[in-house]
Amino acid sequence: MPTVGWIREDALEAFYEGTERTPDPGPPAKPTFRCPFCISVFSIQKELHDHVYKKHRVERPVMLLGGTEPSGRTVVRVPMGRSQVGVANATTVQISIDGRDPENCTPDAVPKKVAEARQAEMNLVLLNDSQANAQPVSTRYKISFRIADASELRRVEDAFAATLVSSSITRDTIGRFLSDPRTQGPGSEYASGLANYCLGILLKERPEAENLTTPFSRYRENYGSALQVLADFDRPLARLITGVVRFALNDFSGADSSTGYWELDFAKALLSDPSRASMPSLDGDAKRRPICPVDHGTARILDLATRMAAESRWSPILDDECREIANSEVLDATDHEKALAIWAAAALRTGSSRSAIEPLTQIAAVYPFNSWAEQYLENVSK
Ligand SMILES: [Zn+2]
Repeated sequence: MPTVGWIREDALEAFYEGTERTPDPGPPAKPTFRCPFCISVFSIQKELHDHVYKKHRVERPVMLLGGTEPSGRTVVRVPMGRSQVGVANATTVQISIDGRDPENCTPDAVPKKVAEARQAEMNLVLLNDSQANAQPVSTRYKISFRIADASELRRVEDAFAATLVSSSITRDTIGRFLSDPRTQGPGSEYASGLANYCLGILLKERPEAENLTTPFSRYRENYGSALQVLADFDRPLARLITGVVRFALNDFSGADSSTGYWELDFAKALLSDPSRASMPSLDGDAKRRPICPVDHGTARILDLATRMAAESRWSPILDDECREIANSEVLDATDHEKALAIWAAAALRTGSSRSAIEPLTQIAAVYPFNSWAEQYLENVSK
């Protein structure tokens, strides 16, 4: 039943209906698609999409330092050559140094400015405003330049040798090293890497006199931050410490690179692949001088590796010696794993595959030893 309100129409409506004629709207108008950037008009949406994609695409501007894009906050510790700096898809660059007002420059001017920076906080905004009617696309970078020259780095190493190599590592000596006048200024970044390494040793060794409250496992964070900083420095001391840290953290990548510390180079090669034909030689007779401290856990493992590798035959006494280190309560889990790996590798190299089964079963699924231990276990348990 229709409702009353719907049926009723008033007099005005009846009048309009009698007098007005609405023109025939005809067939519906064809849709048009207008390009927002230029005067082109298209009848099919896909054509507009293709047009905008082809003619008006605005790429994100990007900068590359040494082949990689700087992350949100990047610290540059070693000088950059101009050829290592690349800028792409940018039309204008705004550079602000040490908080001063930003200056506009062309993208071509960026490599020179980056290569010349030594101690600076640089903010860069790369703009791509190649499209007249579009908002420019921008990318921001914040780069800290902490570049010290060779003589400044040598002064830091002198201070390191005088405070942390010649005396024992304590919070006090680390503090003295960091407040030494030689570690201030441009070399302070390098000094912080060395100090973090020593703090890591302290946390790992936990001498009783230090009354440490920081948990043992935190040594890995200190080692990690030391690695991040020191890996940038192409100096023998930095290479040696990054080698020790990587080894301590069970990272045997770059096993073929030499640190000059024979035990370390040898153990690294042994643990990355025990079946390799040639091992770095152990040049025990050459003259040595102490260059950097090595934590006792790592030193114990290096000692085990060189001693076991020197054995030409195997016996249960050697099993016992390895087992003791692999189960030691004062050593870290990463060192237990390395002890097991040395045990397995050394036993296998003397042809005693039965002795290798016990350690192999414990590391067959442990990264990174699984890369060889799993296969070895399969072979010896056949
Ligand atoms: Zn267009």
